[in-house]
Amino acid sequence: MSDLIDPFGRRVSYLRVSVTDRCNYRCVYCMAENMTFLPKSDLLSLEELDRVCSAFVKRGVDKIRLTGGEPLVRRGIMTFIENLSRHLKTGALKELTLTTNGSQLEKYAAQLAEYGIKRINVSLDSLDPAKFEDATRWGHLEDVLGGLSAAKRAGLEVKINTVALKGFNDDEFDRVIQWCGDEDYDLTLIETMPMGEISEDRLNQYLPLSVARDRIEKSWTLDDTDYQTGGPAAYAVVRETGKRIGFITPLTHNFCESCNRVRLTCTGRLYMCLGQDDCADLRGPLRQSENNQLLNDAIDRAIGNKPKGHDFAIDRLNAAPAVSRHMSVTGG
Ligand code: SAM
Ligand code: SF4
Repeated sequence: MSDLIDPFGRRVSYLRVSVTDRCNYRCVYCMAENMTFLPKSDLLSLEELDRVCSAFVKRGVDKIRLTGGEPLVRRGIMTFIENLSRHLKTGALKELTLTTNGSQLEKYAAQLAEYGIKRINVSLDSLDPAKFEDATRWGHLEDVLGGLSAAKRAGLEVKINTVALKGFNDDEFDRVIQWCGDEDYDLTLIETMPMGEISEDRLNQYLPLSVARDRIEKSWTLDDTDYQTGGPAAYAVVRETGKRIGFITPLTHNFCESCNRVRLTCTGRLYMCLGQDDCADLRGPLRQSENNQLLNDAIDRAIGNKPKGHDFAIDRLNAAPAVSRHMSVTGG
């Protein structure tokens, strides 16, 4: 079966799957405190999600990242991961990974390693317990630190994701960089993206990473590298710690030319671009027939509609979200 090539010649080899829109945290930049989640009846079953993922693997997708919401709070998720790992065993899939808030890792890290997961991204915005609770509203830092220890014991490689928030954690970058050096973690700083209503003013949260980098370079030497994970981060090595620091800058730097990914939601919608509202329904074709012909046709049509890029902006003229859905729908 043919590979997935979009109209701009980009090969789609990376599928991100938001397995649930629910979460046990309510991070201030991601969700409103009173979120209305999707009715459970709208969700694809884990068997259906497996069918869609496997159809993508057949079409040349060799990397899958599970995300959410919090992927590790979906019931049955470990069985789903165990099943998907069959594609690792055949070599069709080079990497199966996940992005998590880390709160469930104490329970699951060993099993994840057993199922062939080698590295994971863990989101953590502050090392100060009180600030961590402010940022996540419902989270506790000690749970995540416990989860990170479990990940280390299981041999999982960890990358930390930190959203840069003006006036909140911009005084902590030095501490986080040192901690990542001590713990042997790479770090990625992320700019806030204008996705979904969150009951806070994003202009107040937004810190351009160019400003963050200038600040960081007062204390650390950053050597730029051309290291790529196939993602949108530009990486440098922190000379003093030897660990990488990545900067994901959707707002100050456009990374669309090399985009190799699409995003599947837990209801079977396929988003061809994080920053656009356009999506394709895969649930209908999936359920209409037991073989995958209709599903594959729908995937082909969707890839044929992958847009050239996004146009995120946070400024005074653009105070409203660029897209109405929350990050937890497509998982970042
Ligand atoms: N719950 C998991 C977690 O927190 O890692 C996975 C889902 S979460 C939506 C994925 C990533 O998106 C996290 O690193 C989070 O910090 C980031 N994120 C959420 N909302 C964002 C926003 N509006 N702008 C930038 N990053 C955001
Ligand atoms: Fe949950 Fe992750 Fe969103 Fe925080 S960033 S509310 S942990 S989905």
